[in-house]
Amino acid sequence: MNKFLPLLIFTYFIHANEIQFNSIDEYKDGTLNISFNLEQVAYINSYALENPSRLVLEINDTYSKKPINEIYNYPIKKIRSSQDNSLTRVVIDLYDHVFWHKPIQKQVDSGILMDIKLLKDKSLKENMRDIIVAIDAGHGGKYPGAVGPNNILEKDVTLLIAKEIERTLRDTKGYQPIMIRDGDQTISLNDRYQDARKNGADIFISIHADGFRLSSVKGASVFIWSEEASSTIARNLSDKKRERILAEINNLKPTDFNEDLARELYPDVYEKKIKQSKILGTKILDQLKRDPFTKIHKKNVEYADFRVLKSIDIPSVLVESGFITNPEDAARLKGKPGRRMIARSIFLGIHNYFIENPISGTLINENKDYLEYTIQKGDVLSEIAIRFGVTVESIDEKNKLNNKPIYPGQILRIYI
Ligand SMILES: [Zn+2]
Repeated sequence: MNKFLPLLIFTYFIHANEIQFNSIDEYKDGTLNISFNLEQVAYINSYALENPSRLVLEINDTYSKKPINEIYNYPIKKIRSSQDNSLTRVVIDLYDHVFWHKPIQKQVDSGILMDIKLLKDKSLKENMRDIIVAIDAGHGGKYPGAVGPNNILEKDVTLLIAKEIERTLRDTKGYQPIMIRDGDQTISLNDRYQDARKNGADIFISIHADGFRLSSVKGASVFIWSEEASSTIARNLSDKKRERILAEINNLKPTDFNEDLARELYPDVYEKKIKQSKILGTKILDQLKRDPFTKIHKKNVEYADFRVLKSIDIPSVLVESGFITNPEDAARLKGKPGRRMIARSIFLGIHNYFIENPISGTLINENKDYLEYTIQKGDVLSEIAIRFGVTVESIDEKNKLNNKPIYPGQILRIYI
């Protein structure tokens, strides 16, 4: 813990965050949306249980004035809540199994609206959900990041890599990508990790391609956040930088989630997150090492004070895809093949992480043998093979294509 942070933290007024049931809405496609009102963004743990089938939302540091007790129609039996000190536990009792989405917290005029969506699905043998991956393209808008030869901008490279990963995740069953920025927007560091939490991210990946004063320095590296690195840097901070960080922390909106305070309140959760981040980072680094296009700058996962990674519970990794100030790296990141390799390494690293650290009630946990990829318009087999690091022959053989043409909407089994 660094010397000045406790002061910052405890000058915060610890808000009493009231939760209220809001509504259940039913859509034509069979989706149900259950919503609750909150005063500020909460740290939520959500999971499904079986026998009897139910969804549980543990909403930390909240209270409800009176227990929630709502009876509803199929597939929802009842929504009920109980209070355990500062934890509100909401249970959605179900008649059957559903495909559900982790709660999303949206900013509205009255505060925060927490939505949880579920879809009736008679074919399911247990409650299922997608894995949510937050992809953070570094910099953007008025912050170009590092600048390489011929004015190649870090913010453009990071967005293109992010979009590659988004595409792979979007078209692979069991994953859902969340783009922290999907265009040339200016987004504050606070909003980046806040948005990941609001969208229920299971992991957070930040993509960069920084610069260095020596153009000879090159290669990719992977970072996770460390309090130690943070405090060492904090001790050596200039007054100006300290002021800037202080301003950034104090700039949290009243409806935002205070990760610095939460790290004090939930040290075990934070410890676990750091461990998981290290595993995730190592998986990505292992893949980068296999990438024939990419040189490695640091062979181990590094620790650094990248505040965008500071969520207390969402494993978070920052990938430096190279040094844009190095001519070789710049050329590699400027071309689609080079960027695609970075995207592939990150995707395969993520996938290997979830194979070994499965989340129950997700497709990746149910089926670890192969991925299901939905063919998109314009796809060709050779590019799909590159995307997943497999051969065209293996795709052809496993899917018994016998050289027949592929078509959009067709589902391929990819054995990695
Ligand atoms: Zn950067």
